Amino acid sequence: MDPTSQIMEDYEAIRPEQEGFYRDLHQNPELSHQESRTAAEVAGRLASCGFRVESGIGGTGVAGVLDNGEGSTVLLRADMDALPVREATGAGYASTVTATDGAGQQVPVMHACGHDVHVACLLWASQLLAGRRELWHGTLVALFQPAEEAGDGARGMVTDGLFSRVPAPDVALAQHVLPGPSGHVATRTGPVLSAADSIRITVHGRGGHGSMPQNTVDPVVLAAMIVIRLQTIVSRETPPTEPAVLTVGSLRAGTKSNIIPDQAVLELNLRTYAAPVRERILASIRRIVLAECEASGAPREPEFEIFDRFPLTENDAGTTARVAAAFRSHFGDRAGVLDLQTASEDFSDIPRAAKIPYTYWAIGGTDPQAWSAAVQNGRVHEEIPANHSPRFLPVLQPTLRTGTEALVTAALAWLGPDPGPQPGR
Ligand code: ZN
Ligand code: ZN
Repeated sequence: MDPTSQIMEDYEAIRPEQEGFYRDLHQNPELSHQESRTAAEVAGRLASCGFRVESGIGGTGVAGVLDNGEGSTVLLRADMDALPVREATGAGYASTVTATDGAGQQVPVMHACGHDVHVACLLWASQLLAGRRELWHGTLVALFQPAEEAGDGARGMVTDGLFSRVPAPDVALAQHVLPGPSGHVATRTGPVLSAADSIRITVHGRGGHGSMPQNTVDPVVLAAMIVIRLQTIVSRETPPTEPAVLTVGSLRAGTKSNIIPDQAVLELNLRTYAAPVRERILASIRRIVLAECEASGAPREPEFEIFDRFPLTENDAGTTARVAAAFRSHFGDRAGVLDLQTASEDFSDIPRAAKIPYTYWAIGGTDPQAWSAAVQNGRVHEEIPANHSPRFLPVLQPTLRTGTEALVTAALAWLGPDPGPQPGR
């Protein structure tokens, strides 16, 4: 029997407690940077399994360290935050929580991205590994990160001295629950999640009366030209072999039909999978906006502001091969290949800061029968609620079991009795 199966023998006994914890967490979600209840629960449970616990890293971040002799140091990461979404799953343990967001607004809160699954799986994987220390050696770092949805939680932990409080890891591993058959895991080498940038552009005109356009520089027309011209960046300037998305999600100008305003504000969202493509598109955006302002005779230079930045998640080939091989040998044909995702994540800020390799995989959260029916009908996008939907609700099992098992399996690829060659540093 492989060591994961030996460790998972203990799972059935602790499964009811994990399910109860998960339901409670789902019912008590917390917004980004406000994860104090979740963090306290996590810290208490890690301590009771024998981990040395570091709390309050980058706000509410928690790290547990379990030193179990000579060997590699493996960092497993889970994110803890929920979203301002009103839950519509109809589950008995649905959230009815509201909270005050960063802008002072009262908003509904829901674990609409499944981070409650990540927390429950990492806590119980930690507990299982702590309970069978004779089956592995090395150091385990269980890291619970705040504010993934805000894009700055991982960076916040790093800048708050994460790596002076936990031992330097050799490898970092993380997972996400996504639409897909529950019980399955999926890995991917190379780029897996896009880099994302939000860009706010303010263009200036010269306002005036709507009846006297000759005396003005109309920023509404200027902004409209920019929106159209930006469409040519992906369609005309970017090689078709290089995926990229550029969306103008917001365009604001003016207050009244007969007033030409002074300025217009555009908000763009850019998704890319390679640093040179990102650089080139950002340069193109700048060139087009500057030229359109010039063409309109704008009285002032435009302003550019990049916000809500997410790094590219690019899985290391050697690390991914090692996890994929461990998954194949443990999960058999329930281990597959993950499609390239257009979503983004800030997890990679942690391994990037530590200069260590990483991989990030997915676990399915959809009822397997509902999934195959939707695939058969070609109606996956219509029938299966995706992350951030008010109806996104992973099936409890085998999702929790699989997520727990995947973390144990991946960790043991470095910490197990025969972990193979050590990763390059
Ligand atoms: Zn999310
Ligand atoms: Zn997420």
